[in-house]
Amino acid sequence: MKSPIPNGCSSQQVFTRQSLERRFRRFIERLERETGRVLRVRFHRNRWTYFSCARERGRRPIRVNLHVSFLDAPAHVVRAVATLIQRDDAEARRVVRLFAKDQSVVWDKHSDRPPRKVRIRTRGEVYDLQAIFDQLNRRYFDNLCRAQITWGNGSKSARGQRHITFGTYDKTRRLIRIHPALDNRTVPDYFVRYIVFHEMLHATVPVAASPSGRRLFHSRAFRQREREFEDLERAQKWGRHFVEEVI
Ligand SMILES: [Zn+2]
Repeated sequence: MKSPIPNGCSSQQVFTRQSLERRFRRFIERLERETGRVLRVRFHRNRWTYFSCARERGRRPIRVNLHVSFLDAPAHVVRAVATLIQRDDAEARRVVRLFAKDQSVVWDKHSDRPPRKVRIRTRGEVYDLQAIFDQLNRRYFDNLCRAQITWGNGSKSARGQRHITFGTYDKTRRLIRIHPALDNRTVPDYFVRYIVFHEMLHATVPVAASPSGRRLFHSRAFRQREREFEDLERAQKWGRHFVEEVI
């Protein structure tokens, strides 16, 4: 029942300078096809101007500045960029902005610096997250998932909160956090493994987009991959019980 991972951890791929230049060229050619114009595209890593262009009339090349993460953008995003090169368009602007945000290109203006270092803690009282991660990585991901994992600090939830977030995936840090409430003998191991598996999927299955450009974190491809988990039903059932009885 195992299917190949859609694109593994694509951000982990290492590109030689040459292959990168080839990709730049191909990308520009694609944009030129879409726009029917000659373009001068400059790729950059500036975090708060992910896209800009000087839309000049006449036959001169259009100058475009684009964040390098757009090299990996899905087709509908590239089309939106092409639209914006030709004219201002609210919908295209929205699609491009969403993508940039997803790539953590657009950071909070006041915190444009590398994310704070996080202390990694994998060994809990009951469960060893690294061991669980490694085992799942072998079994379901061909060892291709490169995320880090840690127990979260769990202290941020508001008092009287009626729900609990068991796990999160932080794309910027490529870090999975698991809620420390799960490090407990009353929590079955298949449930902890399920939560880790779910977050590993977030680290490997690309975020899809709905026809309107909305981000789909739990896309059909995601759910399909999730069904490969052997204890899925049992785990989801237990999760519902946990939320109802314990919280
Ligand atoms: Zn999820």
